[in-house]
Amino acid sequence: MTVVTRLTAPLLLPCDPGCSVLRDGVLDIDGDGRIAWCGPAVDAPDAPGASVRRLDGLLLPGLVNAHCHTPMTVLRGMGGDLPLMRWLREVMWPAEARLAAPDVRAGMLLGCVELLRAGVTTSVEMYFYTDAVAEAVLAAGSRVVLTPGIIDAPGWDRLGTWRQMLDEVSARIDSDGLRYGPGERVELGYGPHAAYTLPAEALPAVADAAAERGALVHLHLAETADEDAAQRARYGSVPRMLHELGVLGRADRLLAAHAVHLDAEDIALLARHGVAVAHCPGSNAKLAAGTAPVGALRSASVPLALGTDGPASSDDLDLWSTARLAGRLARLASGDAADLTAADLLLLATRHGAAAIGRPDLGSLEPGRWADVVHVSTDDPAFLDLDDDAGLLSNLVWAGGGRLVRDVWVAGSQVLAAGEPTQVDRASVQSSARAVATRLRHP
Ligand SMILES: [Zn+2]
Repeated sequence: MTVVTRLTAPLLLPCDPGCSVLRDGVLDIDGDGRIAWCGPAVDAPDAPGASVRRLDGLLLPGLVNAHCHTPMTVLRGMGGDLPLMRWLREVMWPAEARLAAPDVRAGMLLGCVELLRAGVTTSVEMYFYTDAVAEAVLAAGSRVVLTPGIIDAPGWDRLGTWRQMLDEVSARIDSDGLRYGPGERVELGYGPHAAYTLPAEALPAVADAAAERGALVHLHLAETADEDAAQRARYGSVPRMLHELGVLGRADRLLAAHAVHLDAEDIALLARHGVAVAHCPGSNAKLAAGTAPVGALRSASVPLALGTDGPASSDDLDLWSTARLAGRLARLASGDAADLTAADLLLLATRHGAAAIGRPDLGSLEPGRWADVVHVSTDDPAFLDLDDDAGLLSNLVWAGGGRLVRDVWVAGSQVLAAGEPTQVDRASVQSSARAVATRLRHP
């Protein structure tokens, strides 16, 4: 495949397993939007006819936000000081009942712009009005793993029964394909909300439908101590419930968001069945839900990713700040200042996050993967010594981050230029979302 675009930069972080720092780097992108070559300029092959962009600063792969409800940007700030169950039942669910599809589209579009501006190219979304969410992603040019919510809880029957929600996702995958859109920007999956918002028979039914189609199953798991008291009384814990119902053996790609309240047996079950965890420390802290046992999950080799959770609970969509919090909390929990290094955190946000959601075609600048690329400026007080690899990674993760993102490409197309989206007008995206937010607050 011919190289159509060549990006060069003084620093290149491919997010390979060793988290290398390459100097005087070259990244070649082919006509399909995949990476053709990545490495130091001295080894670069000829790329006749390629358009060459010479950038300052550094290049790295787009970040993966593994758990989000991005359209909730329009609900941001509502009910901000309530614990999870009251927040959901008293504020969020009634407000969401007033959202129509165009409102969800406006909220998602705003969130896509926010994500891209932080260098997050992929988000795993659980929401409703699937067409509206997918349309917004395609309009902004970002990437999504879209797992429509399947839920049986007060008020949600307006969208049908859980069985109808499940069948609708299966019908979509069967007609549109598991992945579609330019550069396969949209992947469909299943979003059974949680064990406490679904009858027990729903979870194996979802797992079967997903396994048949190679799709991701994405659910909330053990987020707060009291949410699934009934399930715990009957089965011992939600992981044990999933095991007893046969869900763990059935779903090939299972992603559990939060996973805060787990004991050693639960962690062993997740590890044995390859269940991945989307760690959401920002949301868990803000809702006073607890702190996930990241050290034990890592020791058990549970695949880990990072998630912001929805912008109504976390409240920003900046995965860099989530990464920093993950590092700080892990160190406080273990008393070990070497826990979760800058390189570990960067890989969690990129390569390992992509692997955890079952997408080895994302999260690293390696030939064959999608060219989802972020350009970060190093012209900033956060970066003084660019010559030391460890120092550079440390400055990027602990002191730099999303505010220094300048340009973003998804599947080889530039979707952010000098901090502004190229496919949509930020001012009009903001004003549409603001109109929705105002209406929700003043019905
Ligand atoms: Zn969530």
